[in-house]
Amino acid sequence: MSAATGNGNGGAGPVGFVGLGNMGGPMAANLVRAGYRVAGFDLAPKALAAAAEAGVEPAGSATEVVADADVVITMLPAGQHVLALYEDGGLLAAARPGTLFIDCSTIDVADARAAHEAAVRAGHQALDAPVSGGVVGAGAGTLTFMAGGDATEFARAEPLFAVMGQKAVHCGAAGAGQAAKICNNMILGISMIGVSEAFVLGERLGLSHQALYDVASTASGQCWALSVNCPVPGPVPGSPADHGYRPGFAAPLMAKDLGLAANAVRSAGVDAELGLRAAALYAAFAEGDGAAEDFSGIIRTIRQRSGGTPQAPATEQNGTPA
Ligand code: NAD
Repeated sequence: MSAATGNGNGGAGPVGFVGLGNMGGPMAANLVRAGYRVAGFDLAPKALAAAAEAGVEPAGSATEVVADADVVITMLPAGQHVLALYEDGGLLAAARPGTLFIDCSTIDVADARAAHEAAVRAGHQALDAPVSGGVVGAGAGTLTFMAGGDATEFARAEPLFAVMGQKAVHCGAAGAGQAAKICNNMILGISMIGVSEAFVLGERLGLSHQALYDVASTASGQCWALSVNCPVPGPVPGSPADHGYRPGFAAPLMAKDLGLAANAVRSAGVDAELGLRAAALYAAFAEGDGAAEDFSGIIRTIRQRSGGTPQAPATEQNGTPA
């Protein structure tokens, strides 16, 4: 959604923002542009300086950020950072009673529930609200928020979501936002592997990339991994595959999300064979060739493990070999 200007925040109080990295930095900047007063902190001086350039008031510590805030947003690497900051780091204790804590980091469902309980125990309100849309969506203010917590808290957060994103879904009680995020990404990880395996099999069978794309993208094989983020160059102009697998959605982030999904699968006792396998494949890919690649680059690992099959033969449809 487009950011409002001037007093477009409807008079809402100051926002504290902790974690001003690739995602948090531009999210905080959008709040500033919409007229919010935002105090921010990041352990990395470079991230803090970039946010200050965008109008965020830099603080000397995380607890300094919350002292004056109505709403505190965290955008941190993992659950351990959120939990450590909330309790040992004194964030909850330093905030005024009734502060709304919104954690937008992608973390374990169990950690999200623990963070929620800790916030409520300390006399605050809390939401888990992980996002999809990546760095581009964070900059453009077009993220999707998946929120878990009470309806009252969700309503209180909605104006902020409207500035930083284009869609916010209230998914249910505490932890439901994280649950929605990892379930969605488990579908995505599995489907990208499925699409990639099908393309490599097609190559082996002499089928061109374009022919397989033309059929599957209008048939029952259609999915986002095929029709938007196609793992072979050619059929979808502008896809990461068309740009040497430059992310896009980086493989290490997919590996992280599938790791969180695998944790949840195990603790919920679900027989999710493909989800667990996808987590293992992406973990290996992200540690190796995929460390700096889009997650669709996993097709190259599959091709290699299939004996380095040549890519799709040229046909009338695609003209040149991919
Ligand atoms: P990032 O590493 O760029 O930013 C995290 C920031 O948190 C860093 O600048 C780090 O210095 C700071 N930090 C860590 N501990 C801190 C502490 N105790 N106090 C203050 N600052 C602290 O990561 P990112 O890409 O911005 O991702 C943030 C979260 O968003 C992650 O949970 C990630 O999984 C999720 N996410 C990322 C993307 C993406 O495309 N990058 C997309 C969706 C969700």
